[in-house]
Amino acid sequence: MPSVAARECSSIGRGPVFEAFRSRETALGALPILRALPVRGRRTIGPWCFLDRYGPLSFSSGKPMDVAPHPHIGLQTVSWLLEGEVVHRDSLGAEAVARPGGVNIMTAGRGIAHSEETPRSNSGRLNGVQLWIALPDAHRAVAPAFHPVAEVPRVALRGAIVRVVAGEFEGEAHPAPAYSDLVGIDVAVHRGERVSIPLRPEREHGVMLLGGDASFDRHPLEAGMLHDLGCGRSEADFHSREGARLLLIGGVPFGERLLMWWNFVARTAEEIAAAREEWERGSGFGEVHGYDGPRSAAPPLAKFSPPGPAS
Ligand code: MN
Repeated sequence: MPSVAARECSSIGRGPVFEAFRSRETALGALPILRALPVRGRRTIGPWCFLDRYGPLSFSSGKPMDVAPHPHIGLQTVSWLLEGEVVHRDSLGAEAVARPGGVNIMTAGRGIAHSEETPRSNSGRLNGVQLWIALPDAHRAVAPAFHPVAEVPRVALRGAIVRVVAGEFEGEAHPAPAYSDLVGIDVAVHRGERVSIPLRPEREHGVMLLGGDASFDRHPLEAGMLHDLGCGRSEADFHSREGARLLLIGGVPFGERLLMWWNFVARTAEEIAAAREEWERGSGFGEVHGYDGPRSAAPPLAKFSPPGPAS
């Protein structure tokens, strides 16, 4: 058996909790990142197994986001922007610019490669998140696909506007497919208002403050932290003095043991070694056209490589 250092994700059904997890500071090339999932003590929230927060930032030249072609297996990526633009190119030939209000969801399934970068024509702002959804065993070998959504579904609640980033919320069907029970929403809480977000008790949930100020049941939320809400809640109440943007993710506890290494979500060390070998040989994942530069090289297997494209 090859020596693959990998992290194990666990998710166990629990009751309601309120626990804050500090994100790990890392970087995607020159772009500072707060990695909120996986962190020590919390590997998954439902099927959500990876959460990177970047920005808000301003720039006048160059491209703060510049991730060369790299492979993925066993997951979906979700790119959600509050400000700015990211251009995606993949080995299926898709090219799409993600902008605020829309979402790019990529199903890696059995294998895809993509690049993500700030386009030449840009607003000089960047502020967003990238998440991964682990595909359940029954669906993780699906054909790769790319789902650009120009405008995600919106739900108006008293005190907030909810944008459905992925999955299912209050019966709103998302245009991109989901392979397990999950929800991902952006909640824009109005200034001076309180909002009650309906939740499904069988789901576990986590929330991150993306901007402004907010409190949950009178606990102030700290920016850049993942606040674990646990399972068993039928609602979550948030209040904002000046207005806020929140990211709330959830799903039924995933219940499958995951092995995450570099850009791969798998189950065994052999699968990870095989996917790495295919990428290094240049077979299996296809070519990404239109990215100006060399593709990413896989880290050595012997070296522990935490998940993420360029950490
Ligand atoms: Mn990627």
